[in-house]
Amino acid sequence: MKTSEDLRQLLDRIDHRGYPAYKDTRGVYQFGKYVLSIDHVQGDPFAAPSKLSVRVPGRTAGFPKELYDQKHKRIALQDELTRNFWNQIQQYTFQAKGSGKSGIISVTRCSQEILERTACGINPGSGDVTVRFEVGFPANGRTINAGELKKILYDFLPSCVERALYYGRLDKVRIRKVMELSEDQVYIREQLEAMGLVAFVANGAVLPRESGVSQRPMKGAVPFASPKSMEVTMELPYKGKISGMGIPKGVTLIVGGGYHGKSTLLKALETGVYPHIAGDGREYVVTDAAAMKIRAEDGRSIRHTDISMFINDLPNGKDTAAFDTEDASGSTSQAANVVESMEAGARVFLIDEDTSATNFMVRDELMQRVIHRDMEPITPFIERVRALYEQFGISTVIVAGSSGAYFQVADTVVQMDRYVPKEITGPAKTAAKDYPQLELPKEGPGMPSFDRKIRSNPGLKSKGRVKLKTLGRDGVMLNHETIDLRYVEQLMDSEQLTALGNIVKHLEENVFDARKTLRQAVEELYDRMDAQGFGAMCDGSYLPGNLAMPRKLEIYACLNRYRRLGTVAKR
Ligand code: ADP
Ligand code: MG
Repeated sequence: MKTSEDLRQLLDRIDHRGYPAYKDTRGVYQFGKYVLSIDHVQGDPFAAPSKLSVRVPGRTAGFPKELYDQKHKRIALQDELTRNFWNQIQQYTFQAKGSGKSGIISVTRCSQEILERTACGINPGSGDVTVRFEVGFPANGRTINAGELKKILYDFLPSCVERALYYGRLDKVRIRKVMELSEDQVYIREQLEAMGLVAFVANGAVLPRESGVSQRPMKGAVPFASPKSMEVTMELPYKGKISGMGIPKGVTLIVGGGYHGKSTLLKALETGVYPHIAGDGREYVVTDAAAMKIRAEDGRSIRHTDISMFINDLPNGKDTAAFDTEDASGSTSQAANVVESMEAGARVFLIDEDTSATNFMVRDELMQRVIHRDMEPITPFIERVRALYEQFGISTVIVAGSSGAYFQVADTVVQMDRYVPKEITGPAKTAAKDYPQLELPKEGPGMPSFDRKIRSNPGLKSKGRVKLKTLGRDGVMLNHETIDLRYVEQLMDSEQLTALGNIVKHLEENVFDARKTLRQAVEELYDRMDAQGFGAMCDGSYLPGNLAMPRKLEIYACLNRYRRLGTVAKR
């Protein structure tokens, strides 16, 4: 292997030359105890910065095995080390000077959620720690300024690497706490199933966020306190006893006046599918990992989806067992979101009336009298919600402040009262008795058919290399095709969207063959990702440092919003 000295000599040779000469630095170099790899060199000082990685061998990094010997612990430690590295480089970014992006040093900025990311990886066997980051190679105009790059590589980075990634240099109590929290969170998740719950919200949790643009906990918020009747207690391996509200399986209704904290509770349940860092306020809010937010999404495309359990006999005669549209209505989009999530393996639906299509959720008694059932294509969710649970085992948590119709079908009713939940199942059921009984459809819903076969999109391949672009948290582009993901609300981070773009590209280029169904294609890829990590979705020679793992549910959600999804026509 080449050494840091070789690189230094190379840099001296190319100093003051034209920027493209930097390309020669690509390679792997032994830097004292760690290895620096220059994976990709930018074409000019104004382009996206160069991609580098550092690998610290396990014996140098020195993390005790018990801190990363299981996947969840490893991901939590990787997250912590990424944050450390981010903190370290703040004092050095742009300290080396020059034109354009010269001197920038950047790594993923982690969110409140703990996600598996390419920014940092720990090899479970060797304990090697790899960090992937970007550096703007310095130039004056378009002339190489090697002296400034030497500052970064020989002065700044060694200090960052040692202070962020060497166990001996870190606060051992803090690192241990990261592992302990991760273990406790996994324990709660395991207990959910054993206790027949879909979610746990600890007493004392802080659910509201600081603001619409800050995910930090709100200061001075009313801490969460479970109603006594719903309180469960667990004995966590490290924290010990913890009590909180257990939301049971079945149909749970959250009601209450406007502004009393209903949506805030539901949002906490939505993000509770991911673990949160210490101090977030939601670190002991844990939701079934297969819980899916369902909302209306006017204008989305639907490709060959069987929405017949909700929509039938459309006046235009369209087939709703393999429904296609380029521009869905509120109710059809929400129906598709339900059915596609069933295909993806959702076990819990999370629904907020604020973001639902009213005609999808309910049809009131008076309207049923005037417009006969036979004239209405929509079977509203209220008439299916019990069957979804009883036939398919899928629970639902619904926020509904404006209609009492769901009282009849709910197993549990929770009222939010000035941010404090109260269980009111008894009184709600009693009140509902005086109202006309809901008339359920005579037949239960059949399992929708999930047999859509997918062919690859010839248009994409004929253009040669597929170009990916991530539009922040809003969507991804494959060439000129945008996949709108704004309303897939449990995507937390733009890096998850970048990963989804890679996944769609990989499936298009290597998997879709007109024989596999969507489900087969996704399940096979997901199994490979589970075993091989990000390598399974990236075809390049190195891993980029800007990917975060999405859930399987969001892989389905992304493909279902891909307007060019090549569904093969039935019959
Ligand atoms: P709803 O859906 O019932 O109308 P929201 O959940 O939107 O109410 O909450 C209304 C407001 O109250 C929001 O601005 C939210 O940040 C704030 N809020 C929610 N929960 C709490 C809490 N526990 N303590 C203080 N403020 C809260
Ligand atoms: Mg609300």
